[in-house]
Amino acid sequence: MLKQDFNRQEPKRRIVGDRKQNVADAAFKDASYPHRLNFYTHAPTADITLEEFEKWAIDRLRVLSELEACSFRNKSPDETAAHMKPLLEKYLPLSPNSSSSTKLSEQRRKDHYSHFILRLAFSSTDDLRRRFARVETMLFRLRFDADTERSAFVSSLDIDWFEPVSDEEQAELRDDLQAIAGFDKRTGAVEETWYKVDWMRVPDLVESRKVLLRGGKAYVPSREQASMIITEFTSRLEKQLVLTSQAIPDLDEDDRLVPILDHLSKNFVTPDSSYMSGSTVPEGAEISARNIDNLSQHFPACMSHLHRSLRRDAHLKHYGRLQYTLFLKGIGLNLEECLIFWRSGFSKITDDTFNKEYRYNVRHCYGDVGGDSNRRGGGYSPYSCQKILTEHAPGPGEAHGCPYRHFDMDNLTTLLQGMGVTDRSVIQGVKEDRDGRRYHMACNRVFEHLHKPEIKKAKDEFVMTAAQLETIVHPNEYFKRSYLLKNLGKHRGGDADVKMEE
Ligand code: SF4
Repeated sequence: MLKQDFNRQEPKRRIVGDRKQNVADAAFKDASYPHRLNFYTHAPTADITLEEFEKWAIDRLRVLSELEACSFRNKSPDETAAHMKPLLEKYLPLSPNSSSSTKLSEQRRKDHYSHFILRLAFSSTDDLRRRFARVETMLFRLRFDADTERSAFVSSLDIDWFEPVSDEEQAELRDDLQAIAGFDKRTGAVEETWYKVDWMRVPDLVESRKVLLRGGKAYVPSREQASMIITEFTSRLEKQLVLTSQAIPDLDEDDRLVPILDHLSKNFVTPDSSYMSGSTVPEGAEISARNIDNLSQHFPACMSHLHRSLRRDAHLKHYGRLQYTLFLKGIGLNLEECLIFWRSGFSKITDDTFNKEYRYNVRHCYGDVGGDSNRRGGGYSPYSCQKILTEHAPGPGEAHGCPYRHFDMDNLTTLLQGMGVTDRSVIQGVKEDRDGRRYHMACNRVFEHLHKPEIKKAKDEFVMTAAQLETIVHPNEYFKRSYLLKNLGKHRGGDADVKMEE
């Protein structure tokens, strides 16, 4: 693994791979991509822009996060492949040589670079390294299984730990091999090609009894070759991630890359999503102060809890107001209506107190007052799940944060029951997600449960694409998707054609 040292070269903002130093046995090679698949043995060394650096990494992260979500949802390999197909085509396409696509090199370059950028971001702790190796292996497996040109790729690999079993040995073990693999009914021969490997190299095949064990060796039929290749991929990646983690301190001084890498690694805890407030108002929705009670049926647990707390106490503390105001702004509530909403919500105080203590902060969120950059940018953006989950944990008497993370299980259960979740298996699933610190997956589980018939309908009627059913990682996306699903067919003269925005 190479040490990466990216130097500032303003104003072109080029990133330059370090050509001077290396860690371990680095080798600089001009990247050529004869195969669609890649073992990512050599780090890329050519120049890319800072924008490419960030965008490519985020695109790969979206793919990896969604793959991980498939595994959390126990999707079968076929379901995962079907779910991931459009996302891979959108964010990380890889065409085969036979396609003669003019974009082959461009696609493979992005795949190569994005893998290495994420290696930098996810090598700092054991936990991140383990998760990264796991999801990268899932991606490799998905691609390997679908690759029609994989034998050329396998032949190109420098793997010395499995050797073909000779004809003589195969004849000697014929009965045992047959018992494992069956035989060709036409010729009576056993599987044509067998490989011999140290049994510890293929634990999954040993466990599933798909190999013959003799003298510490596993005899593997050629059709199980994928398992060996994938095991090798994982083992090399795990070793290289450790080497990368040793090189990471040298990046500390780069003030452009460290924040990006830091942001990416936080995103891996919960994928982040930027949310464009201009595209949020679902068609036909009445977004007004007086309708918020009604709309709150579409709120995720975090905002539902804030809304309930406001109605119960006629008050919310600072961070709660901030989180909720930005969310309301994100669903399309304008400033005037938002001020009406808060004023009427804080029913126990006078106009004077409201104007003195609270009005300014609401206006500030909308960019109506405050610094120039805040005003120019239209105020602050609604918070993503990642931000809510990782910043400003709520203290006593505060209602902000994410209930899946910040509530105990009893309070969370009560809140979920209030939102209409009574199915014990869903609550149990939420508990397991929570125990595994997969908070946003718990939220998606609840969303899917509460919208089950509508999701089915949207899929059956092709109203929503797979990309629109990506895992929710933003409270405003939760709201928008919920509203649209619950109102399928109610707009545009009753046609079932409410379209989701990409
Ligand atoms: Fe809100 Fe996100 Fe937590 Fe869901 S996962 S409750 S949307 S912060």
